[in-house]
Amino acid sequence: MARIVMKFGGTSMAGTERIRRVANIVRAQAAGGNQVAVVVSAMAGETDRLVNFCREANPLYDPAEYDVVVSSGEQVTSGLLALTLQAMGCKARSWLGWQLPLHTFSAHANARVGDIDADKLVASMEAGEIAVIPGFQGVSDEDRITTMGRGGSDTSAVAIAAAVKADRCDIYTDVDGVYTTDPRIVARARKIPFVSFEEMLELASVGAKVLQTRSVSLAMKHNVRVQVLSSFVDDNAPPADTLPGTMIVSEDEMQEILESKKMERQSVTGIAHDKNEARVVLTRVPDKPGAVADIFTPLGEAGINVDMIIQNVGRDKGETDVTFTVPQAELARAQAMLEDKKDKIGFNRIITDSKVAKISVVGMGMKSHAGVAATMFQALADRGINVQAISTSEIKVSVLIDEDETELAVRVLHTAYGLDAEDPAIEGAA
Ligand code: ADP
Ligand code: ASP
Ligand code: MG
Repeated sequence: MARIVMKFGGTSMAGTERIRRVANIVRAQAAGGNQVAVVVSAMAGETDRLVNFCREANPLYDPAEYDVVVSSGEQVTSGLLALTLQAMGCKARSWLGWQLPLHTFSAHANARVGDIDADKLVASMEAGEIAVIPGFQGVSDEDRITTMGRGGSDTSAVAIAAAVKADRCDIYTDVDGVYTTDPRIVARARKIPFVSFEEMLELASVGAKVLQTRSVSLAMKHNVRVQVLSSFVDDNAPPADTLPGTMIVSEDEMQEILESKKMERQSVTGIAHDKNEARVVLTRVPDKPGAVADIFTPLGEAGINVDMIIQNVGRDKGETDVTFTVPQAELARAQAMLEDKKDKIGFNRIITDSKVAKISVVGMGMKSHAGVAATMFQALADRGINVQAISTSEIKVSVLIDEDETELAVRVLHTAYGLDAEDPAIEGAA
């Protein structure tokens, strides 16, 4: 007998027919003698719809009330799944964030998981009940409902798995694992059976939305065994226990797997893209000590996350251009703040562009392979794709390009690093 947390995403929960399919998968795990807790997302599209309602009601909405509205999608699906399981003769009970309780802290709309009181949940699971938990939501110190940022149900699931000391956390979604890149963009993307926490963390943080970044860091911290797999399976599909999806493993385990299979690590494990960044250029910034601090300190204080930064070599007259990226959603705020500080910083103009995309290649193998960045730049240059900014970490190289060239760039790089599969991954994918 194992204790398993299962998480089902929005596409898997979209409508009563799909919820019935989910209930069947859950019932099979419970019937195998396992203790089961299920974390669910809102139906696909529902959270976007609710976010729009908030914007229409009040463009400068209060995040605490936004949380009241957007958390409701998960309340609906958790109740519906509990009802469907009951209709199948299973014992099932839903547990809202405040009922567990799942404590969160810091900002509304982007809350972080704190303590989870797992006693009631464990008692219910031990009594043979299937616990159904709405993802994405928690409760603040002030007893108000909170949400954990878009894609936050993944983090709910991992946090609950850590709290109940689950043997495994299975993240069921609409693809059957983590691929070398988004299989909806590259039909020849390959499923990766094992990926290390570090690589997955980096991939998620640069846009591979299959797992929320925080869910990966939480899993790494608490050593939760996370598997990504598909909920769109037929009765003959291999059961989750046989690990048909992608397992996220520690670096040590990854080394053992590579050694046992006598495999060498590729330089690049995966490629991700992110269209949610915007580029800001400040022209004719004084080329003197303290100038960049004047730009980035106020942005940092306002909680605006700056990603790529380029300072051009100073031209004559002691002036330089400074280029950087911020999340698109923060662009208006960043721009207003910089205009406000224009005299202090001493720049000439602000030029912004939201039609940019960040393309990143990620891989532990980069540490021991030279020339990874050169391959990237050459492959993009061969297709006439212009690189506007570059940033690197030990296991990642990112470039900023024109948004219209996103799909082309991802495909070209996928081929350049030898990641293409023989057979297309998902039939009908672009
Ligand atoms: P859910 O609603 O189940 O949480 P998401 O839409 O958040 O699902 O995440 C699954 C999607 O992530 C897939 O449909 C796929 O298009 C996208 N994706 C992006 N990068 C990858 C990748 N490297 N591997 C698999 N899926 C990816
Ligand atoms: N429903 C939320 C969202 O769409 C949370 C999630 O699905 O993970 O962002
Ligand atoms: Mg998701």
